[in-house]
Amino acid sequence: MKNHYQLLVIGGGPAGLAAATVASAEGISCAVLDEQATPGGQIYRAIESIPEQRGKQLGSEYLRGKTIASEFRASDAEFYAETKVWSLNSEREVGVIRSNEADIISADQIIVASGAMERPIPFPGWTLPGVMQAGAGQILFKSAGIVPDNGVVLAGSGPLLLLLAWQYLHAGVEVKALLDVTPLSNHITALPKFPRALLAHQYLIKGIGYQIELKRAGIPMLFGVSDLRAEGEELCQRVCFKHSGKQKTIESELLLTHFGVIPHIWLTQSAGCKHQWDESQQCWRPEHDEWGNTDLPGILVAGDGAGINGARSAEHAGRLAGLEALFALGAISREERDRKAVKDRKWVRDERHIRPFLEKYYQIPKDMLATSDDKTIVCRCEEITAGEVRQAVREGHDNTNQVKFFTRCGMGPCQGRQCSNAVAHIVADEGGMPVEKMGHYRGRPPVTPLTLEQLAGLNKEDVL
Ligand SMILES: Cc1cc2nc3c(=O)[nH]c(=O)nc-3n(C[C@H](O)[C@H](O)[C@H](O)COP(=O)(O)OP(=O)(O)OC[C@H]3O[C@@H](n4cnc5c(N)ncnc54)[C@H](O)[C@@H]3O)c2cc1C
Repeated sequence: MKNHYQLLVIGGGPAGLAAATVASAEGISCAVLDEQATPGGQIYRAIESIPEQRGKQLGSEYLRGKTIASEFRASDAEFYAETKVWSLNSEREVGVIRSNEADIISADQIIVASGAMERPIPFPGWTLPGVMQAGAGQILFKSAGIVPDNGVVLAGSGPLLLLLAWQYLHAGVEVKALLDVTPLSNHITALPKFPRALLAHQYLIKGIGYQIELKRAGIPMLFGVSDLRAEGEELCQRVCFKHSGKQKTIESELLLTHFGVIPHIWLTQSAGCKHQWDESQQCWRPEHDEWGNTDLPGILVAGDGAGINGARSAEHAGRLAGLEALFALGAISREERDRKAVKDRKWVRDERHIRPFLEKYYQIPKDMLATSDDKTIVCRCEEITAGEVRQAVREGHDNTNQVKFFTRCGMGPCQGRQCSNAVAHIVADEGGMPVEKMGHYRGRPPVTPLTLEQLAGLNKEDVL
């Protein structure tokens, strides 16, 4: 790895791979850094090594990643696997850990394509062994072919839940039930967005197709579920919920939940990029223009890390950011950039037709976002409950960072990745303020855990 590149891309998902492929074609020095062992990101995880049978079970959208990965491999861009980025600053200096050694490298242009994470929603029992996020189940399936052998209950909201149920069905897994917590009222409020969504009917058809197959296979799909909780002595033994006004229970040692995805903003936050609250996506995201430029010179964002728009959009947004980086480096003219970007700009616009409908339809209810049950642990690392956060607000700590200082919520090993959104919603709810006024935890390096030994090995001053 060199000390300096003309372009560094953080993240080897569809956005990062597309950006690096297009940029390296113009002869600039370009490297992609990713903590995974191979390119592909979340959606195309393990795409280069997937056995044929498992690839088929994951579906045609997954297999599309083969083309993106092979085009990237054929390019001149360098790929650094198992390389974690632990810091990024406004001077475009990037802290990396590789083979247990930390280093700082720099670049003239940086594209942050670090993707999304599942939205963590605390609910009663979510810390019990046997309760995991659906994405974790999918990661095990994609990367190691591991699937539940004793049945699973899937619960939550969002297209990924449906996709995972379909993938498990094809892998022969017993899906005991799919519990959709999307409020039924969303079906009505999303209706005005439906005509525009028809312009992206391929996604609607796919979703309906999954539902038909699941129904035919006899998988119970319950809509309008509320009061979700996992119960058990030392581990999850049953999933309890309300449906059609009745209390119900399903015996299961495994509950996989999903409540949509939110952008990974830890790096752009630590660099000091401006962020804004996106009410429609119920999350924070970095401010950026059509090309991915943030307010910091030479730092661009692309893909789901810039705002949730899905894998196809990520690919096109990645190419746009790659072209913009080339233009900023003087490798292509403005006219060349614009000419090469025509198709991608159109794709990005077309791909967005479905978003307003999906975002309205899958809006998470406010009581779930703000963890209405006071006994539920919100910060898993420091074991702080929703009730303790509310108490801190009542005592006058009226924004997210103050609550953090006062309670230690968000100060554990995950550095608030799991609780920051929930705490912002609880503080907003208790204080009767809009969530965007609460702010988010101040992002500081290291954004991923780093040992003192690794840090000391840097032998550089003023790295933080
Ligand atoms: C768990 C999960 C599973 C998903 N599964 C699907 C699916 O099956 N189908 C679907 O359509 N959509 C899926 N999505 C949504 C999907 O991730 C996106 O639409 C798409 O992958 C976005 O592409 P991207 O390039 O922006 O980011 P990603 O594909 O997420 O790629 C980002 C990459 O950045 C790397 N990265 C992040 N932070 C760092 C860091 N600090 N240091 C080094 N590397 C870093 C990650 O390892 C990852 O490889 C999933 C999302 C999640 C969170």
